[in-house]
Amino acid sequence: MTDDQLLRYSRHILLPELGIEGQEKLLGSHAVVIGAGGLGSPAALYLATAGVGHITLADGDAVDLTNLQRQVLHETASVGLPKALSGQATIARYNPDIRVTAVQMRAEGALLEDLVAGADVILDCCDNFATRHAVNRACVKLRKPLVSGAAIRFDGQVSVFDLRLPDAPCYHCLFPEGQDLEELRCAVTGVFAPLTGIIGTVQAAEALKLLAGIGESLNGRLLLLEGLTMDWRSIRLTRDPGCPVCGTGAHA
Ligand SMILES: [Zn+2]
Repeated sequence: MTDDQLLRYSRHILLPELGIEGQEKLLGSHAVVIGAGGLGSPAALYLATAGVGHITLADGDAVDLTNLQRQVLHETASVGLPKALSGQATIARYNPDIRVTAVQMRAEGALLEDLVAGADVILDCCDNFATRHAVNRACVKLRKPLVSGAAIRFDGQVSVFDLRLPDAPCYHCLFPEGQDLEELRCAVTGVFAPLTGIIGTVQAAEALKLLAGIGESLNGRLLLLEGLTMDWRSIRLTRDPGCPVCGTGAHA
């Protein structure tokens, strides 16, 4: 680490659980953030300020005026720009010490598999079930840890699917595809601005823990937040042996 890096990351280095060794792991890591919106904004910002050495930001949308209420990677002057580029520019201002790759496309198909294959951790910060299931399938196939978050109205949820572990449940075990509840979109139902910040920030914390190899992750637990009462609950998750994505006999 350079002298500047020792100063920039000194409050991490002071933490005995992290120290220089943990910070060097972060600097040597690659995190892929799928979606540069309400969840992806705080998640990517904290990964960046915390010194994750390479961040890939994938989003096929452009910044809209209605995004600015919560998507803190983007500002008024960014309206109309691709979110991936706007986010890349914001992060460069916060921390020029790291590398950010902007992918101005919706992550799907071969592109998604390539992104997941090159990542140490994947943060699902998207807003639709089709992408969530595609990201999950790629993470199961390539045995990558997935940090999944969702926020709508006043409610949020977050979990880790550490698919490097043999008994880890996957996203499909929890929310089988095809049985998806009616898709709730922020554009229709609304979302409380700081809720996306809270959930996205928990996603960043879990990703940083996984990258540094510290603490105990949310693997096997789903954390639920009711924002109107600020009531947090955590429920246990188990792997579904009959899951068509990760179960026995599955050909993910
Ligand atoms: Zn599964």
